[in-house]
Amino acid sequence: MVKLSGEAFTGAAGWGTDPVSLVHLTEEILSVHELDVQVAVVLGGGNYFRGRTAAAWGIGRAEADAIGMLGTVMNALLLRGELAAHHAADVRVMTATAMPSVAEPFIRLRALRHLDHGLIVLLAGGIGQPYVTTDYAAVQRALELETDALLLAKHGVDGVYDHDPRTHPGAIRYTELSHREALARDVQVMDTTALVLAAEHHLTMHVFDAAATGAMRAICQGRDIGTRIADHETRPPLPEG
Ligand code: UDP
Repeated sequence: MVKLSGEAFTGAAGWGTDPVSLVHLTEEILSVHELDVQVAVVLGGGNYFRGRTAAAWGIGRAEADAIGMLGTVMNALLLRGELAAHHAADVRVMTATAMPSVAEPFIRLRALRHLDHGLIVLLAGGIGQPYVTTDYAAVQRALELETDALLLAKHGVDGVYDHDPRTHPGAIRYTELSHREALARDVQVMDTTALVLAAEHHLTMHVFDAAATGAMRAICQGRDIGTRIADHETRPPLPEG
């Protein structure tokens, strides 16, 4: 399972979508799919709108969250379009809220069947409910689909650091953290609710730079890229070599 934050689509613009970033993300996903790894992607939407800005707009939070969720659908459709243009894999977009004219509704068993058939599954609309973000949706869907790991593609940072690397030039990147350590250190890698859910269910996560070429593929090949957050006892052994 890959979580693409909306910012991964923005490129230098910092808002909306950038065609260069879209092509890059498409190539990265296909490079994982080529390994015969089953790939599902949860889309963020913060490149368009975030529910937490509701007060600034003078609108209700639930309304704002609905707008945010619609943004994730736009990213999913853009990615589907770009993946389709590469003719490299069959793709399905599934939405948490039914939008039958543009995508399939998310049905867990159907998503699993698509993955078994080698299709790339793009999951949009979060969990379809307000007051959470797509980080939470990514953890929930990763658990529902029993994925081996959740790959968190971040914008402008290549892992989890002991201090903010943008303001602390000497900040040190963690290569590994347990869920408990991540919670105790209050790392700003994802929403706390999402991190708690991942910790409760021992979901292995990898944090890496969305802009890095080959990072997703290298993680799937067992290489140490970015930061791995996992229970010590459930960490898979690294492959030989
Ligand atoms: N959102 C929501 N429910 C969900 C997922 C997302 O209400 O299950 C809304 C929420 O307002 C969020 C916005 O959609 O801010 C966009 O998602 P997010 O901020 O997680 O995007 P990202 O930061 O990954 O780009």
